[in-house]
Amino acid sequence: MIVRFFRKPLAVVSLLWVLTLLLLAIAAPLVAPYAPDQQDILHTLEGPSAAHPLGTGVLGLDVLSRLLYGGRITFLSTAISLVAYLIIGVPVGLLAGYRGGVTDKIILRVSDVAYAIPSTVIVLVVLAVRPNDETAAMIACGLMSAPSLARVVRSATISVREELFIRAAVVSGLTDSHILRKHVLPTVMGTVIVHAALFATVAIGLETGLGFLGVGTRQVTWGQLVAEASKNLGNQPWLLVPSGFVIISFILAFGLIGDGLRDAAAEGYSVRQLPTERPSNKTINTTTVVADAEFAVTEPLLAVHNLSVAFDIGGQPVTVVAGVSFALRQGEVVGVVGESGSGKSVTIAAILGLLRGTGRVTSGTLQFAGREYDLADTKSLVSLRGGRIALIGQDPMSALDPVFTVRYQLAEVIRAHTELRGAALETRVIELLQAVRMPDPELVAKSYPYQLSGGMAQRVSIAAALAGDPQVILADEPTTALDVTVQAEILDVLRELGKSVVLVTHDWAVLAELAERAVVLYAGQVVEQGGITDIVTNAKHPYTLALLRSNPYFAEPGKPLPAIAGVVLPPQDWPIGCHFADRCPIARSECCATGVPLIGAPGRSGITRCLYPDDVSKMKRIEVVP
Ligand code: ADP
Ligand code: MG
Repeated sequence: MIVRFFRKPLAVVSLLWVLTLLLLAIAAPLVAPYAPDQQDILHTLEGPSAAHPLGTGVLGLDVLSRLLYGGRITFLSTAISLVAYLIIGVPVGLLAGYRGGVTDKIILRVSDVAYAIPSTVIVLVVLAVRPNDETAAMIACGLMSAPSLARVVRSATISVREELFIRAAVVSGLTDSHILRKHVLPTVMGTVIVHAALFATVAIGLETGLGFLGVGTRQVTWGQLVAEASKNLGNQPWLLVPSGFVIISFILAFGLIGDGLRDAAAEGYSVRQLPTERPSNKTINTTTVVADAEFAVTEPLLAVHNLSVAFDIGGQPVTVVAGVSFALRQGEVVGVVGESGSGKSVTIAAILGLLRGTGRVTSGTLQFAGREYDLADTKSLVSLRGGRIALIGQDPMSALDPVFTVRYQLAEVIRAHTELRGAALETRVIELLQAVRMPDPELVAKSYPYQLSGGMAQRVSIAAALAGDPQVILADEPTTALDVTVQAEILDVLRELGKSVVLVTHDWAVLAELAERAVVLYAGQVVEQGGITDIVTNAKHPYTLALLRSNPYFAEPGKPLPAIAGVVLPPQDWPIGCHFADRCPIARSECCATGVPLIGAPGRSGITRCLYPDDVSKMKRIEVVP
């Protein structure tokens, strides 16, 4: 933003002008030819001369000197006002935006009230109570304008709060105050600076106005000079020129600086809007939630039991994940597959208590490292984030904060979860980058996210996930945003880590290479679960089979890729019976009568939510391309 600002000549000239005035004002005792109150009775109300470059006012007071000294008051008053404006406006706005809820509502109401009172009135009241106390007046002006800044900061905060890099910071287990200071504040800073510059013009206007009216400080100010000039307009019109020029150019310059900053910020604004789910107002069917039969996994490291999640859609709670259970052993990769909208991401988010919007867990427990957690109690899950269970998302670029270097972002997570500091911390940053097989880790550590390719960014976010030394990694489609060759490299990295991973994907090729077991989700339910080879060669649910057949990896060369007929029903339309029945080639009336439970096929390790698994076996087999 700074670089872009300096490309705007008008704004830069304005900045230089303001700085020059500021320096001159500060140096007034040194550079002013006379003291501000030094009279020269022989030369009153004169135009410019060698002795008085900008002429003299009443009693022969030197205009140049008085302008220089007057600038000090104007700058100081503006600064006081700005400080009051920022000290209240910024934290209050951040708090309202980040916290939301009741805090937000209270702050909004209070600011509405403050907003409704014209600040000039308050300033005049203050001056009536404390005559000539300009400091108090300027503080009042700053305070009265702070609510409008708070509102701006609040909306900027709300929009960054939903940014993936903020969520990534939350996932990494960083504290709220840390996230606010280090990630939210820098992002909203552009907005704040712009508004501060624009507010400064208001403050200067007010200050000079007070001087003009003679209600401000008794010391000489620019406003007083204008007042004096206007009284003597008939005798010496020149007098209005220096003070008028300074005030107008000063306000104009601040306005131009503000504009320049705003444009510079706008040009750099590349924050992506996240897709939001459009609520539908269709009527809702009641979906029966079938408790899944537990899939026999001995000594799981992590197990999710009977997870159900509901969102308010069209004002009604709608179940989008219905009784999902699965387990993960130490060192194992478990794949979670299913079409878009089947509930994969929601399931993953629920494990870390990170459901968005109206989402809430309506049932479900998490068994992790020998302890049981209630998934509805999101607070109890906070301690798991980052240090015990880490998350790798789909869009690596937006998981990184654009304003910090890679080194900084990794160090931040390491610091939050370990005792490493100083040189040891630096070493660890490089180690992590090496662990994800980053080429030239030293250089990358110094880079900003925009300097990285998508694949490098994903390596960094995997490194960040590893920074807290987690026992489990949840990876939600970690390679979807990357191109094919990079995908393969990232998957290699994941495989080599030897961690316990829950890997969400809709790519069977990835699963076949990486995962020991797979969980197939369809419309919020587990429809099949088992060993990966078993599933690929002998699917026991028609949906699994259809999913396999429609995958390019298993496609027959030269034949069109078979697609699954129909679409996934939206959650509010899920039937009581089998969720897949309307798309299933072997569905019978029994399938639609009641909820279908998960059943284990005798002698097999897998389970399926199909009443006719034997018929599935008779359907055309998938030939695995070696
Ligand atoms: P995927 O398997 O593609 O990751 P998701 O888990 O993202 O699917 O979504 C599962 C279901 O939950 C979808 O039907 C979606 O409509 C619903 N859903 C997800 N997030 C929200 C949300 N914030 N608000 C309302 N519904 C949502
Ligand atoms: Mg998803």
